[in-house]
Amino acid sequence: MDLVIKDARLTGREGLVDIGLEGGRIAAIEPRLHGGEEISAEGNLVSPSFYEIHIHLDAILTEGDPRPNRSGSLWEGIAIWAERVGRLSREDVRARVLKVLPWFVAHGVTHIRTHVDVCDPSLTALKALLEIKAEVKGLIDIQIVAFPQLGMFSFEGGDALVRQALELGADVIGGIPHYEITREYGVQNVKFALSLAHESGLPVDIHCDETDDDHSRFLETMAAETLRLRLSGRVAASHATAMHSYNNAYADKLIGNVKRAGLHVICNPPDNAVLQGRFDHYPIRRGLTRVKELLAAGVNVAAGHDSVMDPWYPMGKGDPLHTAFVLLHYGLMSGREDREQLFPMLTSRPAAIWHNRLVRGSEGLEGHAVAVGNPADLIVWPVPTEDDALRTLPMRRYVLKRGKVVAETRPEVSYVQGQEVRFLR
Ligand SMILES: [Zn+2]
Repeated sequence: MDLVIKDARLTGREGLVDIGLEGGRIAAIEPRLHGGEEISAEGNLVSPSFYEIHIHLDAILTEGDPRPNRSGSLWEGIAIWAERVGRLSREDVRARVLKVLPWFVAHGVTHIRTHVDVCDPSLTALKALLEIKAEVKGLIDIQIVAFPQLGMFSFEGGDALVRQALELGADVIGGIPHYEITREYGVQNVKFALSLAHESGLPVDIHCDETDDDHSRFLETMAAETLRLRLSGRVAASHATAMHSYNNAYADKLIGNVKRAGLHVICNPPDNAVLQGRFDHYPIRRGLTRVKELLAAGVNVAAGHDSVMDPWYPMGKGDPLHTAFVLLHYGLMSGREDREQLFPMLTSRPAAIWHNRLVRGSEGLEGHAVAVGNPADLIVWPVPTEDDALRTLPMRRYVLKRGKVVAETRPEVSYVQGQEVRFLR
């Protein structure tokens, strides 16, 4: 063994185990293992690493620049970002992204899928991110989505810029149908993205129906085109918040077709908690897609953060655990079985999206579990259970990428009148 993690607790397994790592993979899970270097989990949880499946690295750390988002709305955020894009430079993007990537790593993120705005004819941010992607390989894997923030057909040349971004090396085809001027442009946006996927073999991840408008119904077009072009497992819909507002008969039909098409859905609880409902007077809707109904239907749903300090969301520190914490409350997922869904939504479910695996119920989720043969991308926690992690939001003790420790945090210890306090029952 290259490394043994001693005294680890695994979700769903009684007792403690040692985890042996060799050649970047999990080689053995036994009650006692010896050989090689050792670190101890001290009886605490070891989980798979996090996949941050939806973020916008190009906009990261720009909050307040050139001006703050006063209304807090998605639309004001897009307008502010369009002003900021004019001042992007290679150095600006590099400085911000290289500052934040270690934040993600320290929180246990080994894979990041970032959308990059390609409605900038010079493609400055894309080029800078392609450079960074190559430089940080081994520490963190990056997938880049060619994302036409201002539309493919409402922004002149948007469709050509998406094509150009893919030629330069972007990994995933993006889209934003609900932002197009007309419904027809929106349908065209989805069809263009999926036919490009059919042609190129690349996956798709579309910002779809990120609005409270219950007339925004592009997810049905995504499902139909995915079926027609046989792209099941390769297509993800991000946000899909309008589903919150659909009538139940329509939502039921739609969820059936999303399942049938093998679409993945990515929800973004922290951003959508503050961006949606901005046109409502009381009662104010929660702009979250129907996470529990989708999961119950057997659809693969993952959770992404979306932002760290940008025009859409002023908070964040690159921690997917915050995403799950917000989802637990905002998505009404505090029941026991619902809580058990939260870690998979940051680990095995986004990993299936990343690797274009078709998920049917729990089938297709095996590739990123703590199991022999899987890549040794792991988090060693300072607490024993997933519930304790969600409740106390602790820093990760160790983060391992391909069997190597890439981040380490000394545990915080509090004392009250000289007595050590641990927040465990
Ligand atoms: Zn987004």
